[in-house]
Amino acid sequence: MVVNFTLWEQFVFLVGEVTLIIILGILLFSVLMVAISVYSIKTGKLMFPRFLKAGITMVEGTVKAIFRLIGLEDAEMLSFFIQLRNSMNKRSFAEIPVEERMIFLPQCLRSARCPAHLSPEGLNCRSCGQCSIGYWRGVLEKIGYRVFIAPGSTLIKRMVKKYRPRAIIGVGCLSEVKEGLELTDKIGIVGMGVVTLKDGCVETLVNWDDVMDVALLGIPSEQIPKEALRDDDTPHIHEFSSKPDN
Ligand code: SF4
Repeated sequence: MVVNFTLWEQFVFLVGEVTLIIILGILLFSVLMVAISVYSIKTGKLMFPRFLKAGITMVEGTVKAIFRLIGLEDAEMLSFFIQLRNSMNKRSFAEIPVEERMIFLPQCLRSARCPAHLSPEGLNCRSCGQCSIGYWRGVLEKIGYRVFIAPGSTLIKRMVKKYRPRAIIGVGCLSEVKEGLELTDKIGIVGMGVVTLKDGCVETLVNWDDVMDVALLGIPSEQIPKEALRDDDTPHIHEFSSKPDN
């Protein structure tokens, strides 16, 4: 039997074929992104971060769907995306002088009995000793950071507009940090994120070692205060949460 395709039918057929090829291409590319991501997560070694970041941005929805399909939790995904962005920004961050950096700590880290009052520039910590913020805020300020204890993203945007930093460290829960890093990307500021160990509205926890690992990037050794050193004088920070405030 001879089938005669009209010009229109041939066109529709061609469009169908091209669409199918594009969909297959997106799927294959997404699978490749997922494979590299999973390998990076499992080995703890970030593979091709630039390629991954660009690729994941292009097919984020599909990548997330595949992640879910293979049983990876949202939290694992978010944490990987943050790790990816941090690793890409690390070098640029280290090159920015500390005077042009800011750090935002979430107010949920404070004690439930915190006596600090809110000011137009965030919580005015009184270093009362009831939570770890007081101690580490002092250390960070000694290094040269402008430190803010932020009740929310509105304050962050206001302070960024006011002081125009070139780099920011944001501490917060997974979704806050991811959103923050996306925002810094958009406005051309180098962002680094540190995720808290526990979510909640009050008395959450952060590993101050993680915070200091980021905060000390690119800081000349003579500028590192002794409080930021471990007992063996390496520029890291002591054991986390139970660090007494003073
Ligand atoms: S040390 Fe903690 S609890 Fe005390 S004033 Fe500062 S933020 Fe509040």
